[in-house]
Amino acid sequence: MNPQATREEYLYFSLPEKLIFYMLALMSLAYMGHQVWARVKLWQSGRPTGPVREGKQYWMPTKEGIAKWWGKVLPFILLQKKVRSSRPKSGAPMHLMMFYGFGALFIATTLLGINTYSPYKFHKGAYYLLYETTFDSLGLLLLFGLVWALVRRLKTKEPIAQDKADVGILVLLLAITCNGYFLEAARIAADPKPWDTWSWVGFALAQPLGHFGVLAYKLSWWFHVALVLAFFCIIPKLRIRHILMAIFSAAGSPDTPMGKLRTIPMEEVEQTEQIGVKLAKDYSRWHLMSLDACMECGRCTEVCPAWNVGKILNPKRIVQDLKGAMETGAEVAPSLNPEALWQCTTCNACVEACPVLIRHVDIIVDARRNIVSEGGLSGSAALVLRQTASTSNAWGTSGNREDWMKDLDIPLARDGKEFEYLFWVGCAGATDPGSVKTTKAVAELLKKAGVSYACLGSEEACTGDPARRLGEEFLFQEKAMENVSVFERYKVKKIVTACPHCFNSLKNEYGDFGASIEVFHHTQLLQQLVSKGSLMAAKPERGSVVLHDPCYLGRVNDEADAPRALVDGILDPEFSGAKTRCCGAGGGRMWMEEPPNERPANARIDQLLATGAKTIALGCPFCKIMLDAAKPDEEIRLLDLAEMLQEANK
Ligand code: SF4
Ligand code: SF4
Repeated sequence: MNPQATREEYLYFSLPEKLIFYMLALMSLAYMGHQVWARVKLWQSGRPTGPVREGKQYWMPTKEGIAKWWGKVLPFILLQKKVRSSRPKSGAPMHLMMFYGFGALFIATTLLGINTYSPYKFHKGAYYLLYETTFDSLGLLLLFGLVWALVRRLKTKEPIAQDKADVGILVLLLAITCNGYFLEAARIAADPKPWDTWSWVGFALAQPLGHFGVLAYKLSWWFHVALVLAFFCIIPKLRIRHILMAIFSAAGSPDTPMGKLRTIPMEEVEQTEQIGVKLAKDYSRWHLMSLDACMECGRCTEVCPAWNVGKILNPKRIVQDLKGAMETGAEVAPSLNPEALWQCTTCNACVEACPVLIRHVDIIVDARRNIVSEGGLSGSAALVLRQTASTSNAWGTSGNREDWMKDLDIPLARDGKEFEYLFWVGCAGATDPGSVKTTKAVAELLKKAGVSYACLGSEEACTGDPARRLGEEFLFQEKAMENVSVFERYKVKKIVTACPHCFNSLKNEYGDFGASIEVFHHTQLLQQLVSKGSLMAAKPERGSVVLHDPCYLGRVNDEADAPRALVDGILDPEFSGAKTRCCGAGGGRMWMEEPPNERPANARIDQLLATGAKTIALGCPFCKIMLDAAKPDEEIRLLDLAEMLQEANK
C-alpha cells in the first residue's frame, strides 16, 4: 500500500471560491435550522414528560436515560429490527440497502470533514486506500436501493403514498449519489494518481470518460454542492426527515409495556379541567415528536384488522391527520374521524409493526377519553360502560359470578384457608357459556395438579379493561382500586387468569393502584405444571389443531411459547406469535354492532382454517366468542388450551 496515497481537498479551488461555498453552506444550514426549530416548537407545545429538576421540566432525558436510549436505538434503528421483520421480499431489503448505504456515506463525509477541518490529518496511506475502496463499494448499496425504491414507488399503489414529493426526493438522492461517483471520476481524470484504482467505481468511470480537465471537475463539484445544500433545505419539511427523527423517536420512546395505558391523575384533571386529549398539545412531547418520524411506510395499515375488512380506520392516516392537527391547532377527534377512532380494537398490531415505534393506541385511546368525558359516546359501547358501573360486569349481569361453581368443589378466598394462587375468573369466564367451559377446565386442572388456589366469586369485579380502552378512565380506576383492596384483604401474591385482557390489566396496569402481584396467564402456569410432570401435554393427531395467539398474550405480552408447549405438534397459521391477527373483540369492540362482512374474525378464521386443521386452540374468551360466531360450519371445534389439556388428562 502506497504511504504517499491521499487526495487534496478543494483541489484547484481558489480562496474566493471557497468563501462562496462556505457562505452558501451556512445559508442552507441556517435555513434548515430555522425549519427544525419550527418543528421543535410544535413538539414543545405538548405535555412535558421528562424528569423534574428544581421545579423545571426537562424534556431531554438525563444521563441515566442514555443507556436506555442505546437499548432502543441499537436494535430498532441501527439493526433495523422492525424493518427486517416485514416485507421480506421488497420493502425490507430495499430499505436496508438505502439505510446502510446512506449511513456509510454519512460516516465517510464525517471522517472527511474531521480530516479537513481539524488538526488531525489521517486521510492518507493505508487508511486512505481502505477508506476509498470501502465507501466506493458501500455507496453502491445506496444507489441500488434508491433505484429499487424509485421503480417500486412509480409502480405500486396504496398503502405507499403516491406523493410527487417522494418521487422528487428519491430523484434528488439518486442525483447526489450518481454525481458523487461522477465527481470522483472527474477528479481522477483531471488529476490522475497511481493509487486511483482503490477508488474503483470512480476509476472505472474515469476510463471511458477520458480527460475531463479542471473545468469539468469544478462544474461537477459545484453541482454536487448545490444538490446537497438543496437536500439540507428540504429535509425538515418532507418525510425524508424520518432518517433523523426515527433516532429521536426510538430513543425517547416510553419504557412502559405495550399493554399499559397512561393513568390520568385526578390532579391533572383538576388542573386542566379536561380528561384525555382535545388538542394535539395535550399529547406528550414525545408523542408529538414521534409523528414527525413517521416514514409513511403503511406497515401499520397493512396489519390493521379494521382496515383489512374494509373499515375506514387507517392507522397511517391517524398519524398523518394528527400531524395536521398539531400544525393547525385543530381539535383532535374531528381531525382523526371519530368513526375511525371507535373502530380500533386496541390490538397493537400497528404499534408492533411500526419501525419508528409510534404508539397509535395511546393516540386513539387518549382521543376516546376526551370524547367520552364530553358525553360523545352512545349506543352499545355506552351501554357497556353503564353496565360495568352498575353491575361490575361488562355483560351487565349481576349476582351470578358463582353460578359456574355449582356442584363443583371450588375453594373461595372468603373461606379463610391459605392459598398460593388467586384464580381470577373474569366477567366472560364466569358468565359466558363457552368461556365457563374454560373456567371449569382450569379449575379441574389446578385441582388435579395439586395447586393451592382460591376464587373470589362474588367479590370479584370487572378489571375495568373494556372501560379503560373505551376511554372511561375513571371507571377503570374505580374498578382497579376496588379489586386491589380485595387483593390486600386476602394478601394475594399470585394471580392466574384465563383471560389475556384481565391478565394484561392486572400485570401491567394495576401496579399504578398499589398492586404488587405476580400475574400468570393460565397457559403459563399450565406450562409449568406440564414441565414438572404434574400434567400431561395434549397429543392430538398431527396437523389436526391450529393455534390462534390472542393479541393481548402473543403480541402485547410477548408470550408465544407457553401455549405451544401444551399441545404436541400444534400448527401455526399465517400470522402468529407477536404478528398474530386480531379477532376483533378488543378495545370494547366485543359489544359493538358491526355488519358481518366487516368482522375481523372472518378474515382470521380463514387464515386459521387454511392450515387444514379442524380444531382451533386458543387462550382467550373474547377470541372464542368472536371466532365461534365466524366459523363456517359446526364441524370446526374451538377449544381453549385448558380444555385440550383437560381432555388429555382425563
Ligand atoms: S406510523 Fe409507523 S408503520 Fe405507520 S406509516 Fe408511519 S412509520 Fe409506517
Ligand atoms: S390497534 Fe389494531 S385496530 Fe387499532 S389501529 Fe392499530 S392495528 Fe388497527
